[in-house]
Amino acid sequence: MRKAIIAGNWKLNKTSREAMTLVEELKREVLDVEGVDIVVCPPFTALGDVSEVVLDTNIALGAQNVYWQDSGAFTGEVSAPMLKDLGVRYVIVGHSERRQYFGETNETVNKRLRAALSHGLTPIVCVGENLAEREANRTFDVIKDHCGGSLANLTTDEMKKIVLAYEPVWAIGTGKTATPEQAQEVHTYIRQLLGKLFDSEVAQSIRIQYGGSVTPENIVALIAKSDIDGALVGGASLKAPSFAAIVKSARKN
Ligand code: PEP
Repeated sequence: MRKAIIAGNWKLNKTSREAMTLVEELKREVLDVEGVDIVVCPPFTALGDVSEVVLDTNIALGAQNVYWQDSGAFTGEVSAPMLKDLGVRYVIVGHSERRQYFGETNETVNKRLRAALSHGLTPIVCVGENLAEREANRTFDVIKDHCGGSLANLTTDEMKKIVLAYEPVWAIGTGKTATPEQAQEVHTYIRQLLGKLFDSEVAQSIRIQYGGSVTPENIVALIAKSDIDGALVGGASLKAPSFAAIVKSARKN
């Protein structure tokens, strides 16, 4: 049985002070929750403060990106050792907003996730089609390209340490969720693909989150699907009650 994992992607929101207020409230709301991995991904500037608030709790800290070099003349970047030093355990790589607005490619996603793995961080690797691609019936081609490219040359042991997030771009921040059936169809496809690219143990053990306008209302039907192992949550992770409600509904039976 794969343990569910719910991660909140706070994107470009919350000052350090606001982030601490949010995570203090969340901490109280999810105090007794077991059986679900809970991750919050504040902006870089709030990681240090949030790290102290979540110390010795059931909430793990994640970052929203990582650079592939450890140090050097790379102005504006943040490295895996720097994140580790702050108590970060997870890092989102290849989010569609990074691919769309910041020139992220499968190659750079691959470099970032390798850097994360080599420093013991768990990458949450995002894949997913945009609206035009879905309407042109190219969803599976895009998933194949994102998985094949982003996960290139990883060993099966490395793959087992990764979390994947299927995020249809047309559902992110739009209020338009994929139906549980649409999401399950793609998750099943991803698992089959991983069976071919790696092996059946990887395919069965890897956790695949769904992301795209997840709410306390729609998580129940999504998580009930056999290949959906959690959610990557944007908007609804910015308020403690809604994120906590999603977490509480996410236990797999
Ligand atoms: C995301 O940022 O990964 C996301 C899925 O956002 P939202 O939940 O707001 O659609």
